[in-house]
Amino acid sequence: MSQEQTPLTVALSQLKLASKKLGLDAGMQKMLAQPKRSIMVSIDIRMDNGSVGVYNGMRVQHWDARGPFKGGIRYYPSTSIDEVTALAMLMTWKCAIADIPFGGAKGGVCVDTKTLSKHELERLTRRYVSLIAEYLGPHRDIPAPDMYTDAQTMAWVMDTYSQLKGYMIPESVTGKPVEIGGSWGRVEATGRGVIHCVKQAAENNRLKLGGASVAIQGFGNVGYHAAAAAKEIGCKIMAVSDSSGGIFYEGGLNPAAVLAHKEKTGSVQNFEGCQDITNEELLELECDILIPAALESQITRRNADKIKAKMVAEAANGPTTPDADKILYEKGICLIPDILANSGGVTVSYFEWVQNLTREQWPLEKVNRKLEEKMSKAFNDVEAIVAREESDMRTGALMLGVGRVANAIKTLGLWP
Ligand code: GLU
Repeated sequence: MSQEQTPLTVALSQLKLASKKLGLDAGMQKMLAQPKRSIMVSIDIRMDNGSVGVYNGMRVQHWDARGPFKGGIRYYPSTSIDEVTALAMLMTWKCAIADIPFGGAKGGVCVDTKTLSKHELERLTRRYVSLIAEYLGPHRDIPAPDMYTDAQTMAWVMDTYSQLKGYMIPESVTGKPVEIGGSWGRVEATGRGVIHCVKQAAENNRLKLGGASVAIQGFGNVGYHAAAAAKEIGCKIMAVSDSSGGIFYEGGLNPAAVLAHKEKTGSVQNFEGCQDITNEELLELECDILIPAALESQITRRNADKIKAKMVAEAANGPTTPDADKILYEKGICLIPDILANSGGVTVSYFEWVQNLTREQWPLEKVNRKLEEKMSKAFNDVEAIVAREESDMRTGALMLGVGRVANAIKTLGLWP
């Protein structure tokens, strides 16, 4: 392949691979390749200085055959309809693998959150939600956080949607603050889930986790909580990074101390006693476990050959291209694919939705126990296909996810 792939060409080639393995007919393949609905909006807001800001927003709803659309909203300057479409597709497979009753969606706004005040971000969020509100709802499409959005953003989403309807509807959004119906454990869920998969894969691959060295690209919500969960089970966090670069310390970092430093200085770099490294160097470190927890297309045919980790756990969505998949597989590296590894986030989103619908609040221990049960089941379901097909884990996960969605569509039939 001469050209570097985009998130959408990657998602489509993954779908093609799974469809071929599953023997799906041409009609089904065509249906799965297209999102059901793509909404593009122009978000006009009053800036603090009195001027007008105009931002592009979108929401892509891929498939809802197994339940209402579900997926995060990302705020990122270069996000695009192609990227959001690819991510919506991944959400459809992810929810099917986790076996939760949701389809897949994703939202995006092209904005650099660092350039907006809190008030401007609130106005942007509320205006965006008002523009897509008729397509949202607790039984239609349920948003959640993604890159550069958080529990506060979801509080604004929930309040705006509820104000438009005239009554409070907590089950319309997940990833909310706990005081307004958020679930205990949702913030940590994605990171914890990644490490849960690492534990299961380590057992299968006879990799000892006590003292195992870990490198994590990205130190946002997912990266930080993956680091904390990995440290909890005795791994050594050797390197972490954020958008400005990374740090390396062979003796093992304390994630909480690095987070405090990042909150104070704006970046993980220049942390006392550590060597500053680039994001590229982090990926190529000699380590046991590599966790990409940042952007798409980080491990490509350009650097896959230089990856030295024994295991790659994809906390980010789409960090590895298909060319790179092949290279890693040939090198004997165990790769836990995104649609399995990071499904802990949407799984606890599902628990949050159930708690909201039943007006219950579960204790953290219950959430974590149920998360472990769901993730173990998903992991074992994928492994069963891997064993049967003698395939890599990405292929196994895709076959499980795409297969379950295709079955649901077949059962529903086409109306009229
Ligand atoms: N944005 C997260 C993801 O990519 C979570 C989605 C959700 O909880 O709905 O999986």
